[in-house]
Amino acid sequence: MSTQNHAAALQHPIFSYVAKTAAQTGVQAYVVGGFVRDYLLNRSGKPDIDFVVVGNGIAFAEAVATHLPTRPKVQFFKNFGTAMLQFAETDIEFVGARRESYARDSRKPIVESGTLQDDQLRRDFTINALAISLNEADFGALVDPFDGIADLSSKIIRTPTDPDITFSDDPLRMLRAIRFAAQLQFQIDSSCFDSIKRNAHRIEIISRERIIGELNKILETEKPSLGLSLLYDAKLLELILPELTALNQVEEIEGQTHKNNFYHTLEVVDNISRNTNDVWLRWAALLHDIGKAPTKKFQKKQGWTFHGHEYVGSKMVKKIFIRLNMPLNQKMKFVQKMVLMSSRPIVLAQDIVTDSAVRRLIFEAGEDVESLMTLCEADITTKNKIKFKKYHQNFELVRQKIVEVEERDQVRNFQPPITGEFIMETFGIGPSREIGVIKEYIKEAILEGKIANDFEQAKELLFKKAEELGLKQHTNG
Ligand code: ATP
Ligand code: MG
Repeated sequence: MSTQNHAAALQHPIFSYVAKTAAQTGVQAYVVGGFVRDYLLNRSGKPDIDFVVVGNGIAFAEAVATHLPTRPKVQFFKNFGTAMLQFAETDIEFVGARRESYARDSRKPIVESGTLQDDQLRRDFTINALAISLNEADFGALVDPFDGIADLSSKIIRTPTDPDITFSDDPLRMLRAIRFAAQLQFQIDSSCFDSIKRNAHRIEIISRERIIGELNKILETEKPSLGLSLLYDAKLLELILPELTALNQVEEIEGQTHKNNFYHTLEVVDNISRNTNDVWLRWAALLHDIGKAPTKKFQKKQGWTFHGHEYVGSKMVKKIFIRLNMPLNQKMKFVQKMVLMSSRPIVLAQDIVTDSAVRRLIFEAGEDVESLMTLCEADITTKNKIKFKKYHQNFELVRQKIVEVEERDQVRNFQPPITGEFIMETFGIGPSREIGVIKEYIKEAILEGKIANDFEQAKELLFKKAEELGLKQHTNG
């Protein structure tokens, strides 16, 4: 395979401009990293393209830009010798071949220029160190000094140099190793994985944004439990999300045990990933049971209980988002709401599905009712085949009822049919407690199905309630 010519990989329009610049300037240029790896793996997608040049990466990028018909702006980081531009809807990066050495307390390297092989050696994994030549003499030739091709075909993640050095220099690479293993469904070489375990504590020097970036990529994979289990085994997960690893225990009192909620959670995340690509809904699945560790109790009569774990869990979500510097916006609120409501449809599906219970569910979940249903169906991990089938059937019923009730009562974006202004005008009163009481009474009547979500019916109820409260209709004149 390595003797093969890979010119066929070089279809993107940028390659001819880079090759032309290389020929004109006499600077050697190679495409390297993810683009080469994904091409050899036949992975589709819209990759960014990275070039390494033996010389000044910024000057080279400027020269390429002058050839490009779109004359893109070149952004550069002088300290790292890297330059970026956009062309044909692709992010393109140039770097001068370099050697790196690191100070212990930082992942910012001291950079010196080097050979192509120096540059390949400082890359994270052998499969990311593959390069294809854009030079006239050997256009399309693969340059693979660390046997990346062999690792690609045996599906192995391995560092080009001593893993203790690779991971200690830049501990983000530990997360990248696990992320690539999860994305590509590769194995991490065992001595490499041992090294990750040894260096796990070094993750403390990595910014929280970077950590979350990798964690999100793991959550976005087809089967996130692969990556999450690796994070767990490497003892990285307990450093990033101790709330989650706290669920990994089974206690026994008086012969009664509870389920292992950590492994249950991994199953739920895998289940939901078959039905949604929304990373925030996957986060909700990941965190849906975190309130169970702090609320767990053994009670003589009931056995193991987790009373209020949904509420406690939703509060914990906010703390986690703050700690990990995640967005504190409506995405966080969505995750909190999903965790808070995560038991609602399950309870509903175990019982007789009444219209009023469904109406309340729609009212409280609002726009997110489908997401909530998706979460709760993923939460069914019982190994009892009869129960499994029954719960799924009941969920089907709940879904049907949601459609029916929605059509009839439209409570999803509930607007009270009687407004405060209407009440004030009708009874000639100003803002007061009674208005709240009446509105709540009408809302409850609608949710309970005593009246429809309809002005005339609500008005009738309004007069009844007003009389009880001693309000008299106001007449002008
Ligand atoms: P993807 O774009 O799918 O995430 P990629 O391999 O292209 O995968 P990038 O983050 O785009 O990853 O980086 C491009 C290349 O730069 C990598 O293939 C690797 O050679 C190198 N690289 C990136 N990050 C590191 C790092 N932390 N340490 C060493 N090399 C790195
Ligand atoms: Mg890339």
